[in-house]
Amino acid sequence: MTYPVKLLMSEFVTHDVKRFIVERPPNLNYEPGQGVELAINDPKWKNAGRAFTPASLKEDKVLEFVIKRYSDHHGITDKLHTLKAGAELLVSDSFGTLTYQGPGVFIAGGSGITPFLAMIRQLSEQGSLTNHTLIFTNKSPADIICEKELRFHFKERCILTCTDSSSAGYNHRLVTKEFLKEKISDFSQRFYTCGPPPFMKAVNQALTELGVSPDALLFDT
Ligand SMILES: Cc1cc2nc3c(=O)[nH]c(=O)nc-3n(C[C@H](O)[C@H](O)[C@H](O)COP(=O)(O)OP(=O)(O)OC[C@H]3O[C@@H](n4cnc5c(N)ncnc54)[C@H](O)[C@@H]3O)c2cc1C
Repeated sequence: MTYPVKLLMSEFVTHDVKRFIVERPPNLNYEPGQGVELAINDPKWKNAGRAFTPASLKEDKVLEFVIKRYSDHHGITDKLHTLKAGAELLVSDSFGTLTYQGPGVFIAGGSGITPFLAMIRQLSEQGSLTNHTLIFTNKSPADIICEKELRFHFKERCILTCTDSSSAGYNHRLVTKEFLKEKISDFSQRFYTCGPPPFMKAVNQALTELGVSPDALLFDT
């Protein structure tokens, strides 16, 4: 099912990421971590929808999307970033297998944080974030999506690393087996991973070598 909805507002979150607040179709339900297909309701773009993950809570009256612009693709993210309030979008029913299964470590690369935003917000709302850790890798501090919010939620368990340029308060390392061993003491807990395919491959392999069981390694399949 596809629902026509209006864009209510958008604002910058980082230099190339915007938050979009969109009307919520009354019949759309989703679990934090699941995606929907989002398209622009005009003749040129209506069949060019792509997957995006609501960052809003299950009970929120509007949908929030946090979307990184790839201007060199000339695709939907480039176009979405130019839209003004009132533009009409199309939202599909939800899909996806990455949902919250219990306390653990979230490991995200870049816009791979988006499926975790709704989970983190839902857990914070319930006061249940204490036994969770975040490892979030980006190119530079300027690229970190929702940094203040994530630092607030995770406190000293918010581990930020920047691979290209870094500064005080951030690690300057890739997420490798050695890095994980240094930062995490318990590999019998759950690990949620999301990011670009090469990052996913490297991180999931490192976690497996560190003894994480296949059942405890959670990512969208
Ligand atoms: C389940 C799921 C949920 C997601 N949720 C989010 C989210 O919440 N927020 C978010 O920001 N992203 C999310 N993504 C990623 C998002 O779907 C992609 O960023 C988006 O599809 C990219 O769209 P685009 O229009 O920019 O480019 P694309 O649709 O990827 O590409 C458009 C065209 O650009 C060209 N192209 C493709 N790759 C390149 C390249 N590397 N260099 C140059 N040209 C290229 C191709 O010709 C392609 O036809 C999610 C993805 C999945 C699978």
